[in-house]
Amino acid sequence: MEEAEPLTLHFIHFLAAGHMIPLCDIATLFASRGHNVTIITTPSNAQILRMSVPYHPSSTSTPSIFLREAGLTDGIESLSSVVDAENLAKVFQATAMLQAPIEQYVEEHPPNCIVADFLFPWVDELANRLGIPRLAFNGFSLFATCAVISPHEASDDNNSLLLPTLPQPITINAIPPEELTEFLNIKLQTALKSHGLIVNSFAELDGHEYIRHYEKTTSHKAWHLGPASLICRSPQQKADRGQTSVVSMHHCLTWLDSKPLHSVVYVCFGSLCHFPDNQLYEIACGIEASGHDFIWVVPEKKGKEKETQWLPNAFEERNEKKGMIIKGWAPQLLILNHRAVGAFVTHCGWNSTVEAVSAGIPMVTWPVHGEQFYNEKLISEVRGLGVEVGATEWSTIGFGERHKLVSRDAVENAVRRLMDGGDEAREIRRRAHEFGEKAREAVEEGGSSHNNLTALIHDLTRLRDAKL
Ligand code: UDP
Repeated sequence: MEEAEPLTLHFIHFLAAGHMIPLCDIATLFASRGHNVTIITTPSNAQILRMSVPYHPSSTSTPSIFLREAGLTDGIESLSSVVDAENLAKVFQATAMLQAPIEQYVEEHPPNCIVADFLFPWVDELANRLGIPRLAFNGFSLFATCAVISPHEASDDNNSLLLPTLPQPITINAIPPEELTEFLNIKLQTALKSHGLIVNSFAELDGHEYIRHYEKTTSHKAWHLGPASLICRSPQQKADRGQTSVVSMHHCLTWLDSKPLHSVVYVCFGSLCHFPDNQLYEIACGIEASGHDFIWVVPEKKGKEKETQWLPNAFEERNEKKGMIIKGWAPQLLILNHRAVGAFVTHCGWNSTVEAVSAGIPMVTWPVHGEQFYNEKLISEVRGLGVEVGATEWSTIGFGERHKLVSRDAVENAVRRLMDGGDEAREIRRRAHEFGEKAREAVEEGGSSHNNLTALIHDLTRLRDAKL
């Protein structure tokens, strides 16, 4: 059979690490099959991507990076590099300013397909004008997408949320802010007009029952192509994925090498979660009381807040050998894949979740904002890959106070449930290991995600050739 001409695809990511990282990994998957891929991005994100997007050995083309001024000051071009509310607002403003230059570029260089974040709904009209398919990406699990668009019923005491129409009835431990549900639903309605939804997960993790449910209730196609974090990259590329790590790869790995198998708890709440000092204090007390070794990632703070008032007295001295606190960006992929790591305390951001699943690591779930409370249920109740810490406050992204602290006892108990041995911990670890293997199989030749990518490429090629 004659080889089809490679496709030309443009990828447009939202300005946040949790959106940029997976979409650019997915772009690399297409590039690795020989297609011409352009990632449309801003100058400092382009620099980060150059350091961490791998050049796949069998690829004839690699992602080319389009530089565009975003209108942001001080090189801050991502929600994830913001340490105060003022710059948070600026990034959102700059995001709106990207529409005109991106539209101009795409119209001057029309591709065969656009793959764009669902937070850019205007791409729908752009694709229609050009007469090309658009694929939407929201960075969620399909389970969470099903949950967002399904009917919600608040409990009588208004403390929990029942989702009665999912393939199994699910009760969520908190009530989402109304404006969030409305915002997500509006964006998802536009995403449903696209040619399909790209999902950075694998069919076995969301489950065929949820894939069928999504396709039946929306008449829209979901393409599971992940976990995209499993693409081949060097250790240094792993360390620099998303941002440059504040600790050297060598230091981190040497420290982990000195620890026994599954003995270290890794604690990280992604790139957007800024806990107040009193919550950080409870975390410190809880981890220390659990008695386990740990790596704890705390986002960079600004100005006076940099002082570590959030740590108990002499915490760092007492835990010099037992723990490592990383203040700023950590090399998460490297850490999760180290044999010494035994559990991950996570905010259930979808990337962190799917990275932990791929590494076969059990999770303590501690959702904070966005769609994370839905992901928690997929991890804990539906797939049995972790235990819940007991978070019940659904926040919005930002730097505000929190009203319901998770106590040191809750942190200690959840960590002990996974790390102290016993039947429950053994069964969760066994399942986590099994799903780690399934994740790797999914992206190998003949695996579910590998086959989905082949089918999607055929579909896009057919659409392009039908126009000729
Ligand atoms: N990440 C990292 N180092 C950090 C914090 C985050 O490498 O110190 C990466 C993490 O591996 C994941 C992404 O940033 O790929 C965070 O995405 P996620 O969906 O988990 O959470 P978000 O930041 O969007 O809340």
